[in-house]
Amino acid sequence: MNLSDKELERYARHIVLPQVGGVGQRRLKAASLAVVGAGGIGSSVIPALAGAGVGRLTIIDGDKVELANLHRQPLFREADAGQAKAELAASFVRKLNRHIVVKPVQDHIGTENAKQLLAGHDLVIDGSDNFATRLAVSDASVELGIPLVSAAAVQFQGQVGLFRSKPCYRCFVGDAFDADDCDNCAELGVLGALSATVGSFAALLAVNAIVGIGEDQSGRIQVFDGEKLAWRVMSIPADPACKACGSG
Ligand SMILES: [Zn+2]
Repeated sequence: MNLSDKELERYARHIVLPQVGGVGQRRLKAASLAVVGAGGIGSSVIPALAGAGVGRLTIIDGDKVELANLHRQPLFREADAGQAKAELAASFVRKLNRHIVVKPVQDHIGTENAKQLLAGHDLVIDGSDNFATRLAVSDASVELGIPLVSAAAVQFQGQVGLFRSKPCYRCFVGDAFDADDCDNCAELGVLGALSATVGSFAALLAVNAIVGIGEDQSGRIQVFDGEKLAWRVMSIPADPACKACGSG
């Protein structure tokens, strides 16, 4: 997959990096990513990936813009209230970078359709706002063998990690939240700048994974405390009894 003169000019600050170069930039162009959620996390992830030159982006979100989203979702404007987030996010991508093929999916993702929506992608980034969705996305990613960056931000606490099937996100959180949307922003609140911090980290994790920068980060969760302003890393052991990736 070659880069045109315009693309070489556009991505010059990437290509000059020895860790990226022309090879890395072509890997980004060849990559097809699914982004679940055009919300607080997605508002950082989607512009970062589109700007970075990820060739194909599928944006999955069934929600419409509400006034209470705007403190953490700079993809949207006041005038967008009531409009579909997936379409608006896709329109943002097209305006930012003509070289990206973007596909909006205005639908809620769940156990019934996750495999179908995620199949064919090289990486999934999940920035959805509840455990049931995150588990459905994780289980489908494990079944399809697609690496997953899972990111979440609630109140002052953020977490983000890369999973390559085993251990998986379900090994980390267990089965208790399968049908439970108890832990979401609507009820608990979230600091807008925290979503942006975690979303930017998720985008960096994804870009590094696609290009092959640094050591493999899979199986580790990065936890961010937005009050202490400190990151901490946890290694996730694979759960042999995990419903998704275990043998039992
Ligand atoms: Zn697992």
